[in-house]
Order: sequence, then C-alpha cells, then structure tokens
Amino acid sequence: MRNKTIISLLLPIILLLGSCGQAASPQQQSSLDGPRSSSLNAEGHAGGTLDMLAGGSEKAVRKIKPMDNYQLQRKFPDILYMTGPSDQPVAALTFDDGPDQRFTPQILDVLKKHNVRGTFFVMGSRVKGHPEVVKRIVEEGHALGNHTYWHPQLYNESLYRLKWEAEETDKALQEVVGFKPKLFRPPYGGLTDELVAELGRQDYKVIGWNVDSLDWKEIGADEILSNMESHLKPGAIILMHSGGNWDQDLSGGVEALDRLIPELKNRGIDLITIPELLDLPDRK
Ligand SMILES: [Zn+2]
Repeated sequence: MRNKTIISLLLPIILLLGSCGQAASPQQQSSLDGPRSSSLNAEGHAGGTLDMLAGGSEKAVRKIKPMDNYQLQRKFPDILYMTGPSDQPVAALTFDDGPDQRFTPQILDVLKKHNVRGTFFVMGSRVKGHPEVVKRIVEEGHALGNHTYWHPQLYNESLYRLKWEAEETDKALQEVVGFKPKLFRPPYGGLTDELVAELGRQDYKVIGWNVDSLDWKEIGADEILSNMESHLKPGAIILMHSGGNWDQDLSGGVEALDRLIPELKNRGIDLITIPELLDLPDRK
C-alpha cells in the first residue's frame, strides 16, 4: 500500500522530467526553420533550454549519419579535418557540449593535474549560461571551438539555421572571451556537402574526429578506455564530452581521462590542441 502511494506521488514528477529529456517534436523543429529571425530565440525556449541538446541526446541521434565524413573530407580537404598528421607523436583531446557546472570543471581539473591542454567545442547557449567556466577554459590555455548555439541536427535544418547557430555562438564567445573561434564542430558529427561548403564560406575549419570514446553512452571508465585502445595512434583526434543532455552522467569519462593521459604519455604521445595539431589559427 505504502509503495503504491509513493509511486502515485512520484509519477507526475517522473513524467514531467521525462518530457524535458525528449528531443524537440516535429512541430517544434519546423518552427525553427525558415528565414524569420523571430522564430529563433537566443535567450529562451524556441531552441531549447540550457540543459538540453535541441536535436536530442547523442544516444537518440547518433545512429543516423547523413553522409560519410571521410568522403566529405576528401572532397573538402582544406575545410574538413578528421585526423592530424600521423608522422609525429602527437594527438589532440577534444571535449564537446560544454560548458556546464557539472562535468566541465572536473575535466579541467584532470587536464590541469596532468598539465595537458585540450580543445573544447562549446555551445553558445551554455557559454552565456556559464561564462566563468569558458573564461577558465581560456585562462588555462585550452583552445575553443564553436559547437552551435542549441545543438540541433543541422542536416535537418536550413542553411539559414546553420548561419544563425554559428553566428550567435561566435557573438557569445566574443562577449565572454573577446574572440571568435576559427574551429567548428557539427553536433552529432552530422554533415552534408552543403553544410561543409557553407561553413567554408563562413571561414571556419570544421573538425571531426577519428577516435570516439563513446563516453556519452554513460559507460564506465574501463569500457571507455577499451573503446579507444586500438585507435590511439599518432595524429589522433579524440572525441570526449564535457557536458551533455541534462540527464546524462559523464563521470565515467572523467575517470577515463585521468587514466588515458598517463597511458598516452607512456606511449610517447604528446597531447596538444587542435590548432597546434593541424597548424591552424585558433581565432578568426
Ligand atoms: Zn555535441
């Protein structure tokens, strides 16, 4: 009896929380299309909330890939990069979807402990929400890249939406750290010909990855490390996350990072930023 009462009290709360975690409905999505800037809202709710990824959690979306990024890389070799040079003992750690108050500070602590620098692809909405964390990223010598404002599935949106997402994020970064980044990473790694060409016109360098930690699956450190094991070679661009959907637990990734860095050092691989690895400027 008592259990039943507790469940009936909790049920409305559970339902409410569940609805926050879902991807935007088709109606919500379509309201974001088109050229009217009034349908896009940098402050509020048209695109999502600070704790959500507008295009859905990585778990829900990553199965679908619009195009093979290696094919695109061959077509746009001066715009899209998937790896660094393999003839030098270096690799780059990259962290998507921050900044947040939960995991980004922990990732920064681990990097500091090992005296290593990485590259953070940040969301504009979260830059506005947590400016002090972005400042810390820059002060501690890490590189920054643009990861859109609300994290939509760009390949299902208009080029207007891409332009808006990129520009609003650049503006947010300009306000907080005083520069616009040269690097861009698309949410979910989802790209098309048109998107890469447009990003090139907007003077970005688009950064993919060739080592996926799969930390967004909320797995433990052992599994994350074994996912990466066979790919950890010179020139690697390693994908991890320093934030996520509001309901994601990335603590396995934090622990994995703490073990990964000494392991790479043992193998003689130096960890450097994406601008260093690819010999690119870090800002426009
Ligand atoms: Zn992302």
